[in-house]
Amino acid sequence: MDDRTGGTRSMETKEGDFRTRTDICLRCPQGCEVRTILGANDEIMEINGNRCKLGREYVEQEIRDPRRVLPTSIRVRGGERPLVSVWTPEPMPKGMLLELAKDSRKIEVDAPVHVGDVIVDNWRDTGVRLVASAEVLAT
Ligand code: SF4
Repeated sequence: MDDRTGGTRSMETKEGDFRTRTDICLRCPQGCEVRTILGANDEIMEINGNRCKLGREYVEQEIRDPRRVLPTSIRVRGGERPLVSVWTPEPMPKGMLLELAKDSRKIEVDAPVHVGDVIVDNWRDTGVRLVASAEVLAT
């Protein structure tokens, strides 16, 4: 299986009860290629390629509850520009990314918008905030 989402990549192969997966750790710019052998219950049997313990944490999170930060943009009424960049400082469940990206197209705010303005709090009960990452002044 080859899964490409949010700028990352994971690949899996299966042999008997064991699965081998390769992930690019996104916890820092080093981007280590982490190879993991998993047992029948997804327990980590062997891991290598990670230069620090965060790589193991990253893979554990990817197996248990993969999450991604969503960068997107929303419409602005009465602003010097029609769109403002927004993002989710708290990573959201990966499975909801497309749905929430579609949701964001329906959101419209009034100018001015400032960096750090919370546009949506607890988006779709995920506990995730949608926050402005750019400035749009009013015309
Ligand atoms: S394993 Fe450590 S060094 Fe490698 S990308 Fe992850 S955080 Fe960075």
